[in-house]
Amino acid sequence: MEMRNDRAQNCAECEFARMYDFGSRIYYCDHANRTDDMGKLGVDGLAGGRPEWCPLREKDSD
Ligand code: SF4
Repeated sequence: MEMRNDRAQNCAECEFARMYDFGSRIYYCDHANRTDDMGKLGVDGLAGGRPEWCPLREKDSD
């Protein structure tokens, strides 16, 4: 049985996603290898999917 590995990592389900509540909920990525300075993922929610700079992408595309 063939299972395509297209269950793309989703920030909402990712162990590296963090949320701070500064009046509005700020979500960011806490992965040590992230290349984005801020690592900001969203405000008041996660849109689904993951950003271009997601450090887990490299691993997936190998
Ligand atoms: S950017 Fe990638 S590593 Fe960071 S929280 Fe989202 S899915 Fe996880």
